[in-house]
Amino acid sequence: MQSVSEHKMDISRARSETPGCSEVIHFNNAGAALMPQAVIDAQIEHLQLEARIGGYEAAEVARDRVAACYTSIARLLNCSSAEIALVENATVGWCLAFYAVDLKAGDRILTTEAEYSSNYINYLKVARDRGAVIDVVPSDGSGQLDIEALERMIDGKVKLIAITHVPTNGGLVNPAAEVGRIARNHGILYLLDACQSPGQIALDVEAIGCDFLSATGRKYLRGPRGSGFLYVRKALLETIEPPMLDNHAAVWTARDRFELRPDARRFENWEFNYAAVLGLGAAVDYALSWGLDAIEERVISLAGSLRTALEEIPGVTTTDIGASKCGIVTFTKDGLEAPDVCAALRKQDINVSNSTVKSTRIDMERRGLSDILRASVHYYNTDQEIKRLCAAVAAL
Ligand SMILES: *Cc1c(COP(=O)(O)O)cnc(C)c1O
Repeated sequence: MQSVSEHKMDISRARSETPGCSEVIHFNNAGAALMPQAVIDAQIEHLQLEARIGGYEAAEVARDRVAACYTSIARLLNCSSAEIALVENATVGWCLAFYAVDLKAGDRILTTEAEYSSNYINYLKVARDRGAVIDVVPSDGSGQLDIEALERMIDGKVKLIAITHVPTNGGLVNPAAEVGRIARNHGILYLLDACQSPGQIALDVEAIGCDFLSATGRKYLRGPRGSGFLYVRKALLETIEPPMLDNHAAVWTARDRFELRPDARRFENWEFNYAAVLGLGAAVDYALSWGLDAIEERVISLAGSLRTALEEIPGVTTTDIGASKCGIVTFTKDGLEAPDVCAALRKQDINVSNSTVKSTRIDMERRGLSDILRASVHYYNTDQEIKRLCAAVAAL
C-alpha cells in the first residue's frame, strides 16, 4: 500500500531514475546519496566532451550551463547568484568563510554542542594561534541549541556565531532562524554549517539570517562527490576578504595592486572540475523539480516510521534528539559494535554508516555515546526498505 506522501511524489519514478536503487538499499544518504541519472549524465557527457575537444574548449561550450548552476543554487537558497561560490566540498567553503573573519585575542566564538569536528578543530587552531575564545552554547531539554542561553551569552566580545544546522550524528535540526535573529539584533557575524540540510530541508537564507552558509553536493542534494558551495551575504562582500586569492578571485591590475572580484566568486579558485560543477547543477535542478517542501515532508515521515520501527526491536535504542527531527536516524543495538553492524548489513546490500565521538565530540560525550549507527533516509527510500533494514537489524 502506498502512503500519502509516496502518492504525492511518484516514488517509483524517483527510483527508476536512480540506478543505485536496483542495486542496494541505501540508508547512507547523510554520507553520499545515490545520484539520479540526470546527475550521472551531466558529468559523463562533459567528461566525454573534454576528451573529444579539449578541457578549456569544453568549458567554453558549457559556459551557460555552468552559469546556470549558480542560478539554481541561488533559487535553492533564496539568494542571488552573485552570493554563491562553488568549492570542492563543504569544509573548504566553511574554512574560507571562517578564516575571512579577523579573530583576535579575546574575541569569542559561540558555537553549538553538536558542532562538527572539522569546524571545532579550526576553532581550537585560532584559539591556540591567536587567543580567540571558544564558548559552547548549551542545549535545551529537547537537545537543540538553547536560544535563551545563546542570548544570555552575547556580549561585546562575541565576534562570530558559528553553528551546525543538522549534525552528522543524528536527526537534530538546530533552530537556525532563531539564532539568525539574535545574530542580526546584535550585529554579529553568523556562519551556518548546513552541510546536511540542502536537498532534505527547505532552506531560505533570508529567513535564516546567516551571513555565510556552507554545504556539500554529495549528501542530500544527490550531487557528485567533490562538489560544494558557499553562500556569502552580498552586504558583506564590500568588507570581507577571502584568506587566499588567485587570479580568478582578483585581477592583478598594476604592478603594486590587485582588485577583488565584486561577487562571492572571490572565494573561488580558477580551476574547476567542470563535470562535477555540471553534475551539481543537475542535482540542484533535480531537487527543485521535486520541490523541497515535498521532499522534506517525505523524508521526515519516512525517518519517523524508521525510528518507530527500530524502537520496537528488542535491544535497539534510537539516539536522535531535538524538537524537530530530519532524515538522519541513529541508534544502538545492545551487545553489538556499530562497525560490525555496518559490515553485516553491507553483506546484505544494505548501506548504513556509523558515527563516532570523534565527529561530534561535545554532544556525544555529554550523552555518553561513543559509536552509534546511522541510517539516513531519503525520499526514494520505501516502507519496504525500512522493513528489510529492521528485519536485518533484528536478526543480528
Ligand atoms: C559531512 C559534513 C561536513 C563536511 O562536509 P565535506 O563536504 O566532507 O567537507 C561538515 N559538516 C557537517 C555537519 C557534515 O555532516
